[in-house]
This record gives sequence, C-alpha cells and structure tokens, in this order.
Amino acid sequence: MPIKKTALPPRTPPIRRDFEDEIRRLKNDLFVTRQALVDLLDTQDLLSGYFGCKDFDQIDKWRLERASAVIEAAWVRPGAEMGDPRWPRAICPLCRQGAQGTRDVQGYAVPEGLRRHLLGELNSRQCAVFAAAEQIARDGAVRHRGW
Ligand SMILES: [Zn+2]
Repeated sequence: MPIKKTALPPRTPPIRRDFEDEIRRLKNDLFVTRQALVDLLDTQDLLSGYFGCKDFDQIDKWRLERASAVIEAAWVRPGAEMGDPRWPRAICPLCRQGAQGTRDVQGYAVPEGLRRHLLGELNSRQCAVFAAAEQIARDGAVRHRGW
C-alpha cells in the first residue's frame, strides 16, 4: 500500500515570525506611549471620547468637536501681548507650543491658527497630543471593522 503524503501546513519562516513579533511589540509600545502622552498632557480631559469611535465618520465628528473644545479652553491673549497685534493668540492647551517660524510671536492665532495646529491642516504640523489621541481612535476603528 503506497504511503500517502499529506500536505504539511505552510511554515512561517522563523525570521518572519521574529518580525511579526517585533511589529506586534512595537505597536503595543506605540499605543502605550500615545496613551501616556494624552494622559499626561490633556489635564482638562479635552480629548475625551477617542476610545469610543467605531468608524471614520465618528472620528471626523470627534475631531471637529474636540478641536472646538480645545480652542474654547485656550487662554486667549491680545495679539499685541503675544507679538502680533493682528489677531488674538493662545498657546496650545495640549502641547503648550506656539507657531514655529515667526520670531518673537507666541502662540497660535485664535481660532483659525490653533484649529489648523490641532487638526494638522494646511501644512501645519499637527499637535502631537491631539494626533496621539486621533491615532488611537483610528486604530480602534480599524480593529472594530476587523481590518
Ligand atoms: Zn498642540
């Protein structure tokens, strides 16, 4: 009686398994770091709700609502006091930074400059704290959909 060969399951090469383990570990470390950034710097809980987003429409809604909440929470100062008399300005309440590139000018123009900073629009470097919460929300939505 001939011996029937059974197909062996495809083996994952050990080096690929190493990479997959490393990627999984790095993703976990990135999540922990983002969460710590938000926990440490969002002292007023302005970014609440990023864990509950189940799809990208909810994330878009969350982004706009939270950006408005952050702008409302900002300590807005007269522009002359911040080095640019054209508009009132404020330091970002999350990352405590101001617009880069203009010497002697502090903070972001309110509301539009601060909104661009929070949302990363029009070539503005996005607020690292806002971006951390947003990316946790995006990763959660991807997991929720099973992608
Ligand atoms: Zn910021």
